[in-house]
Amino acid sequence: MASMIHVKPVPAFNDNYIWLLHRDGDKRCVVVDPGDARPVLQALDEQGLALDVILITHHHPDHTGGLGALLEHRDVPVYGPASEAIRGVSHPLREGDTIFLDALDLELGVLDVPGHTAGHIAFYGDNMLFCGDTLFAGGCGRLFEGTPAQMHHSLEKLAALPESTRVYCAHEYTLANLRFALKVDPDNAALQERLRLVEHQRDSGECTLPSTLEQELKTNPFLRSGDINVKQRAESKTGHRLNGPVDVFAAVRAWKDAG
Ligand code: ZN
Ligand code: FE
Repeated sequence: MASMIHVKPVPAFNDNYIWLLHRDGDKRCVVVDPGDARPVLQALDEQGLALDVILITHHHPDHTGGLGALLEHRDVPVYGPASEAIRGVSHPLREGDTIFLDALDLELGVLDVPGHTAGHIAFYGDNMLFCGDTLFAGGCGRLFEGTPAQMHHSLEKLAALPESTRVYCAHEYTLANLRFALKVDPDNAALQERLRLVEHQRDSGECTLPSTLEQELKTNPFLRSGDINVKQRAESKTGHRLNGPVDVFAAVRAWKDAG
């Protein structure tokens, strides 16, 4: 039987997760979006793991700030977005590229997902999605460098992955996201149920991730701009007719930004 890949969250700052991956019986590990080196080095030490590869989804400091210190600790390959200037990235990637991670015996594909930042990428393979600040559990990233049309297109790409895909995003924003989602989609029973579950998880201090794409498709308003109820709520919020999913998406994003 093939050994399994463990994926564990390393909490950083207030609400970031740095994902740490390793395979049963192998000490080598892969780290995704290390905004801070200290919690990563502590986790490696505690778990007896050796840093082997670093993956980066976008240039923001809470995803890259630990690179310098980690590379000083061990000079490893760093895979990151080709169209963002990030000091320390040794292997620039864009959509269509694939990488093979020897430590995990795992191939990952790369998707371009602009919107939160202009060059944001996501990694997908073996039913796992590492999507940084593009798709969140119950939400999506703010549009710092992209248009609503770009972000909507990026989210559609992610939404087209298999429903069983596990979504490893980079922040614990789930509770606030779902509370907002309920304003947009108040009669959604799956959403009401998910909110209750996440409230319970957060009360016990648990990580709410990964979610699944199936859950996101049912409850995340940013993946549901084609839904008639979401559209009608967005229209009554803005006070005018919205023509198509991109306009609905833009209205819901602006609604959340204003809240
Ligand atoms: Zn970010
Ligand atoms: Fe972030």
